[in-house]
Amino acid sequence: MLDIKIERTTNPKEKPTGKLGFGKVFTDHMFIMNYTNGKGWHDPRIVPYQDLTLSPAAMVFHYGQEMFEGLKAYKGIHGETLLFRPDMNGKRTNDTNDRLCIPQIPVEDFVQAVKAVVKVDEDWIPTEPGTSLYIRPFIIATEPFLGVDVSDTFLFMIILSPSGAYYESGLEPVGIWIEDDYVRAVRGGMGFAKTGGNYAASLAAQVKAHDDGYSQVLWLDGVERKYIEEVGAMNIFFKIDGKIVTPMLNGSILPGITRNSVLQLCRDWGMEVEERRISVDELLQAQKDGKLEECFGTGTAAVISPVGKLRYKDDVMVIGGGKIGPVSQKIYDTVTGIQLGKLEDKFGWRVVVE
Ligand SMILES: *Cc1c(COP(=O)(O)O)cnc(C)c1O
Repeated sequence: MLDIKIERTTNPKEKPTGKLGFGKVFTDHMFIMNYTNGKGWHDPRIVPYQDLTLSPAAMVFHYGQEMFEGLKAYKGIHGETLLFRPDMNGKRTNDTNDRLCIPQIPVEDFVQAVKAVVKVDEDWIPTEPGTSLYIRPFIIATEPFLGVDVSDTFLFMIILSPSGAYYESGLEPVGIWIEDDYVRAVRGGMGFAKTGGNYAASLAAQVKAHDDGYSQVLWLDGVERKYIEEVGAMNIFFKIDGKIVTPMLNGSILPGITRNSVLQLCRDWGMEVEERRISVDELLQAQKDGKLEECFGTGTAAVISPVGKLRYKDDVMVIGGGKIGPVSQKIYDTVTGIQLGKLEDKFGWRVVVE
């Protein structure tokens, strides 16, 4: 149990009105906790949202020793504040931390910190359909030192950002660029970790895809560039000849919590589900044979993002006539229904913030 000190702002901000975008508006408070070698994590506190003062030599600026998480808080149909599987974010934090030599945080402390700061800024949770309070926990290396080494000090922070509906008018299928030149991660690298470096590595391909009118990049494996890995910030699923297929977790793919939830749901519905290697060639063939029935991305931001078009070199595969498929829609309705308290929570995924 953390002993969290709370300092409330004396100067609350205006809540945003009108359309909420993503990640530009922040609430009145933030959580912060220090780590010092020999002392461990200490001084957990909630303070008014504020800028940081760091040495320009802080190690995070030079060698990228940092990690982040992403989850959301919702107002349930009875007005309660709800989280979705926050313990999974806590577990993943520690998997990421291990890879990046960042000290572990007990999962219960992680969840306690998330709940505490969300509770303080609970009235910032937007309630329009599709909106939520985006929660961004992150850790940075703060020791002022230019040597390449593990930092002696860290900061763990949680900031909150009210965010708008991902889709303004229903689930709109996106066009995706299968990247055949740049790669995001390789086995043995840090693809499974939620860390900024993976995103830095992704920007050049994203710019290229955007310039060509595609909204996101689908990465291939970093060695053979033959097998499907994942989309920028989403895992990818296909429905091929009636089966739900997604790349298996191989160390270079981020183990999404939405991915895990979708797999559990589909299995629970008795669908045939496969986690395995999927080559681009298999997709092209399935498309030719009329068996590539649906494709969708999964991630906290959009929950389900239907894919209407996949480009690979000179081939453009249009999937489901560019419209959302019935399984994608059913998964979206079920996951969001559970998140908002509209549907029974048979897996125990919902957590009430009291
Ligand atoms: C966060 C993330 C995902 C999705 O994970 P969720 O836990 O479902 O939000 C997928 N891929 C990458 C690269 C990510 O960073």
